[in-house]
Amino acid sequence: MLNLTPKKIYERSALRVNPCKTCQPVGALYAALGVHKCMPHSHGSQGCVSYHRTFLTRHFKEPAIASTSSFTEGASVFGGGSNLKTGVKNVFDIYDPDIIAVHTTCLSETIGDDLNAYIQDMDLPEGKIVVHTNTPSYVGSHINGFFNMMCGFINYLSQSTGVKNGKTAIFPGFVNPGDIREMKKIAKLMNVPFVMFPDQSGVMDAPMSGHYEMYPKGGTTIPEIVGLGDCEKVLALGELTCEEPANVLERKCGVPYELLPLPIGIEGTDRFVMALSEISHDDVPYELEEERGQLVDVMLDAHPYYHDKKVAIFGDPDTVLGLTSFALELGMIPKYVITGTPGEGFVRKATALFDKFGVFDCTAKAGADLFELHQWIKNESVDLLLGTSYGKQIAKAEDIPFVRAGFPVLDRYAHSYFPIVGYRGALRLLELISNALMDRRDKDAADEDLDVVM
Ligand code: SF4
Repeated sequence: MLNLTPKKIYERSALRVNPCKTCQPVGALYAALGVHKCMPHSHGSQGCVSYHRTFLTRHFKEPAIASTSSFTEGASVFGGGSNLKTGVKNVFDIYDPDIIAVHTTCLSETIGDDLNAYIQDMDLPEGKIVVHTNTPSYVGSHINGFFNMMCGFINYLSQSTGVKNGKTAIFPGFVNPGDIREMKKIAKLMNVPFVMFPDQSGVMDAPMSGHYEMYPKGGTTIPEIVGLGDCEKVLALGELTCEEPANVLERKCGVPYELLPLPIGIEGTDRFVMALSEISHDDVPYELEEERGQLVDVMLDAHPYYHDKKVAIFGDPDTVLGLTSFALELGMIPKYVITGTPGEGFVRKATALFDKFGVFDCTAKAGADLFELHQWIKNESVDLLLGTSYGKQIAKAEDIPFVRAGFPVLDRYAHSYFPIVGYRGALRLLELISNALMDRRDKDAADEDLDVVM
């Protein structure tokens, strides 16, 4: 069907076809799942939360829990205050979380429900907490919802006591549990005491134990979120995702922050490692030097297969920028670089990368969709697609090798357990990219040229 995508491009401003993003509450729900014993709560109709949960479950292949205010016609007309009050009581009575993190939906935003007033008005059980954030889905994307929920937790909970706790807060951005584990490994190797917020490792990659655990072991704890206000510093990874929560924490508690790109590729990871080294005043341990050296070694060995190849990269803004930076380090040409999340910062940063590596005729666009990307590819093709599962139809229609990375990846298993960040993550990306390109070479080779040694 996608073969019917027309080559001729018309300017569109009010229509997205095959969007490269999803709605704000999906991000808010994912952020809340990174808090220990937290029940995400969707203030809207059941249909919204069914979609959000399903979307996350399909990516992680794990149950994504969330409750809902279950709006019907009455709440839509008269407001959802009583639904929320009843919902919160039921959730604490039946599911016993420590905290409920409420996010809004298009419906509750449109009728203008005042969640702050509703929550102030509630009689909560002893020791239980409710926080909220606004996530109107007609602006931004799941990335906005993700950082809005982080801001909600900080606004409600983080406190400065005036006594520093000696820890560095690491905001990992919208990444997989496997990435968070890799970031933690690097921070530990660098001897930096840290708090990871949010932390979906141990939640969205919890092991099979033989019985269902509604609240697995992982997640940032409530005392840790409160203690963010006493941290020495924040390392905000993913400049377009984590600046806002880092800013909110600085304004509220005076904790300074350093914005860094997601540690994808050599330079991205180097900057993370050096920022940690400045904090601990420790040298980089041999284990990390060895990983870096191995990565560079494989890059050199495999470079004839990927060098100068054109790649289209699509997905979430910080992930795409990290992948673009790594593609450039590999000597590839990031011909098209798009994200569905609006924001001109993305285009500025992508263009700065093109300039830095001296590549020309590359296009970056925010608020873009995959239909447009397909049209560009029909006009001038690429050698590789690198992005979310939604590139699958383009890959099939145009017969282009395809490597899945980022969010969402709905049609593969186990990917979220493995990092794309850090030197180890870059090595894995490199393997996926070169395998895809080498498979293409094998497929196109004449019988007499097919070789087992490459
Ligand atoms: S109505 Fe809004 S919040 Fe609900 S699923 Fe659709 S876009 Fe998301």
